[in-house]
Amino acid sequence: MSMMYTFGAFVGRKSASAFFPSQKSVTTSCSNVFTSTRGRLFSSKEEVNPGKVEGTDLMIVEYPHPSLRAENVEVTEEELKDGSIAKLSKEMFKIMYAAEGVGLAAPQVGVNKRLMVYNPTGNSKKWLEEVTMVNPKIVTYSEGVDRATEGCLSFPNMSGDVTRSRWIKVEAMNLKGKKIKKKFTDWEARVFQHEYDHLEGTVYIDRLDDDDKSNVKPVLEELIEKFGEGGKL
Ligand code: ZN
Repeated sequence: MSMMYTFGAFVGRKSASAFFPSQKSVTTSCSNVFTSTRGRLFSSKEEVNPGKVEGTDLMIVEYPHPSLRAENVEVTEEELKDGSIAKLSKEMFKIMYAAEGVGLAAPQVGVNKRLMVYNPTGNSKKWLEEVTMVNPKIVTYSEGVDRATEGCLSFPNMSGDVTRSRWIKVEAMNLKGKKIKKKFTDWEARVFQHEYDHLEGTVYIDRLDDDDKSNVKPVLEELIEKFGEGGKL
């Protein structure tokens, strides 16, 4: 039904028209970079929760799992030194690729730590594109925004339009504890913002407009029925 990479794929682009609380002002954007460079992400496919993946005991948790709303703690220096975070990020990449995703945040595998992994290409062969962000922070949001359709593996069978900053400046650490400062634009900025939301206990459903929210409501209710109460929006 929806198009899905971990956080989902774009099925369309619209000019921004909604005010967005985390951004100061809204300007419209019409760039079409994704269509040329990210064509693959438009391909229609059912999202798949791969369940148990070889090489890890971790699994993707789905709404309303409380881990999606719990506080995520900072990764410690010790965890970086003892290799446990390197191991965790490796396992997260395995799950992400098995799910045909482009990004995954630790709370999505039930680990409430401030860690995210992504590969903007979604292609495991392009491992040079892999990014691991430890304790990331978004320090600047562009005023210009884009609106595009997102989905999320923790919310199967649904999607909706989300407005996000076109570019962001971020600070984080890599697995060696080295400080990273970067600016991300367009697709990578969107992936980052989606995963960063997870670290804040926010999910893209929170950012949908009323129409999209009512569209996904029946699916959310089915999930609640399947998994029980515990992660109400
Ligand atoms: Zn997500």
